[in-house]
Amino acid sequence: MLGLMQDQPLLISGLIDFADKHHGDGEVVSRRVEGDIHRYTWSDVARRSRQVANALDGMKLGFSDRVATLAWNGYRHLELYFGVSGSGRVLHTINPRLHPEQIAWIANHAEDQVLCFDMTFLPIVQAIHSKCATVKHWVAMCDADKLPADTGIPNLISYEAWMGSQSTSYQWPVFDENTASSMCYTSGTTGNPKAALYSHRSTTLHAYAAALPDVMCISARDAILPVVPMFHVNAWGIPYSAALTGAKLVFPGPGMDGKSVYEMIENEGVTYAAGVPTVWQMLLTYMKPNGLKFSTLKRTVIGGSACPPAMIDAFRDDFGVDVLHAWGMTEISPLGTVCTLKNKHLTLSKDEQMKLLLKQGRAIYGVDMKIVNDAGDEQPHDGKAYGDLLVRGPWVVANYYKGEGNPLVKDKDGQNWFPTGDVATIDADGFMQITDRSKDVIKSGGEWISSIDIENIAVAHPAVAMAACIGVPHPKWDERPIVAVVKKPDAQVSREELLAFYEGKTAKWQIPDDVVFVDAIPIGATGKMLKTKLREQLKDYKLPSA
Ligand code: ADP
Repeated sequence: MLGLMQDQPLLISGLIDFADKHHGDGEVVSRRVEGDIHRYTWSDVARRSRQVANALDGMKLGFSDRVATLAWNGYRHLELYFGVSGSGRVLHTINPRLHPEQIAWIANHAEDQVLCFDMTFLPIVQAIHSKCATVKHWVAMCDADKLPADTGIPNLISYEAWMGSQSTSYQWPVFDENTASSMCYTSGTTGNPKAALYSHRSTTLHAYAAALPDVMCISARDAILPVVPMFHVNAWGIPYSAALTGAKLVFPGPGMDGKSVYEMIENEGVTYAAGVPTVWQMLLTYMKPNGLKFSTLKRTVIGGSACPPAMIDAFRDDFGVDVLHAWGMTEISPLGTVCTLKNKHLTLSKDEQMKLLLKQGRAIYGVDMKIVNDAGDEQPHDGKAYGDLLVRGPWVVANYYKGEGNPLVKDKDGQNWFPTGDVATIDADGFMQITDRSKDVIKSGGEWISSIDIENIAVAHPAVAMAACIGVPHPKWDERPIVAVVKKPDAQVSREELLAFYEGKTAKWQIPDDVVFVDAIPIGATGKMLKTKLREQLKDYKLPSA
């Protein structure tokens, strides 16, 4: 017997319609590429998204055709989120920090028909347009009078001229909720990048889940600053959850440095901010010496890489801001776990709470997870046993775009799971902790050493700005850890002092064999440390103990 409830597909157009009807006066504020501040309302977003949809119809774009963006977090990008997907096309957000050749490769692979770009990225588009055979329309995200002449890009039009003259009424089409809505390529550290192809259903379910109190706790009383880019996994789904709840959105545009982020937070009454640790490091480095405080910020969600304990401490103790540690991946839309305490943990001491808050957190309903050993046996949830982390759920990939590479594995019961490539523990309360990416884990004498633990200790030293731990070959132990360290400006610490700092903080055999001071640690296009590149840079390095 089927239930007798209405069968309404979960569509992204529903989110923006809802925002329009129920919190149309909610604000969306953006720092523009031009440098000024733009402000309007959710009703304006809805109206202009409908104009975008009409403009795409005018170009005779087909159902599921791909529309690419090379853009910062800003209001025009937001309109494309709703106008492109809502009208049945697929929004393809491209990471502009990739090499131009890679951008061209991705645009060709996705067979993008339209490419909309912020003026910052004009030089990239000039370099690649002749290589993007499928792109028929190039749209510069600027006012008509700001469109430069003689760019060499065929039929270049300004966004405002393109969509501004369109009708503001549009009947959003109704279709299967499993239709593709947007796509994002993984960073492709091994082989060519592959694309996760999200659906209207997966995106809407993720938007509901992300807003839950034990997830990102997004409400109509929040002003959210997503520093995490809209070109990377849909800014962790925040634009959709904000439309669903009526939260105010504050977009930083190209201003990701500490000063710009701080000013946006203070000027716009931001209560909640989201980003990767490197961004928060820049913010804290700017605030501390200037003696600055937050007047409205209450929470920040940190993910994408392990959040060092020193950062959680600094936010909590120095600035009174709660840190939510989150874990996710491009392939899982991206939210998998968020770290929030249970009721029984509220009476624990601050130190005991801290041990929990450092973990990547508890699974969100919609993400099932388990850890398995090399033989595929499920490992106990005791917080000690570690294994490969497998996940499944309605917003986890089933296949990559164009069926490239089967992303799933079968467990012993024949069930399909997505292997995350992360190694983790899960404790009895369900808190998952990543110990490493499987390719970064260090194997010393048959025992595993977590590179994240080694890095966390180093960055707790007051003179250390950044640290990356890698394994180097050792004749007796197979591999031994060393730690590459970037010192804070004007700070001093010696190799011996730093090694002594590890005493008592970790087992003796896990203490790195050496410290290598470097000017910078290579950072990839999504703001994460690129250990592959670091290993290359240190390929001639010899261990003192070897
Ligand atoms: P890519 O896989 O292309 O690098 P993603 O953004 O999808 O890009 O990265 C997902 C990976 O990032 C995870 O598999 C995990 O290794 C790492 N990661 C994400 N969040 C955290 C976190 N809070 N702590 C530790 N690692 C994290």
